[in-house]
Amino acid sequence: MKMVFLGPPGAGKGTIAALAKDYYGIPHISTGDLFRSNIKNETALGLQVKSILASGGLVPDSVTIEMVRNRIAEPDCEKGFILDGFPRTIPQADALAEMTGLDAVVDFQISTEAVVARLSGRRMCPSTGRIYHILFNPPKVEGKDDETGEDLIQRDDDKEEAIKHRLEVYTAQTEPLIKYYTDKGLIKGVDASVAPDKVFENLKKALA
Ligand code: AMP
Repeated sequence: MKMVFLGPPGAGKGTIAALAKDYYGIPHISTGDLFRSNIKNETALGLQVKSILASGGLVPDSVTIEMVRNRIAEPDCEKGFILDGFPRTIPQADALAEMTGLDAVVDFQISTEAVVARLSGRRMCPSTGRIYHILFNPPKVEGKDDETGEDLIQRDDDKEEAIKHRLEVYTAQTEPLIKYYTDKGLIKGVDASVAPDKVFENLKKALA
């Protein structure tokens, strides 16, 4: 199964992908996670994109496309993959179409008010990428990862100004992909406003 998860930041794509990758037995490829791990490891790519991520803007298409091209050429992607956060622009979608076919594009549907509430309360374990929410999915011990005990962090781009910018970028650059993939007959809409286990049920039904 080759899938793209589409939807605004904060729609829960990463949370649901973590469940779906085990269920479908395919890797979860998050371009945001790939960039963050390059930033953490201070690679040349990481240094190049660090300030872009902090501001909530988009990394140039050429850089992002090459990173994804290399990743989906790896053997674990032969049976399929979940692309989370890619494509985010029409040129990225065109480039992806040249690399591979797709079975489904899942549109995570949720209001702007709900994503702002989710993003501003989101916390993350810096080493594993595990995601929490201070109200909706709190860790067992406040501020600590359930498994590693590490201090949880708030992503720079989950702070108020960056959230606003990311949502504007989504509307201008990524939302047009809903029509793009609708025209190709690939879109499956999923109500993403409910709790993660319900969203996952909605996803399974939409893909059945
Ligand atoms: P995410 O974790 O998906 O919210 O992505 C975090 C940030 O990584 C975004 O705000 C962008 O700066 C960058 N990024 C992730 N995916 C892409 C993409 N497909 N194209 C350009 N920039 C991206």
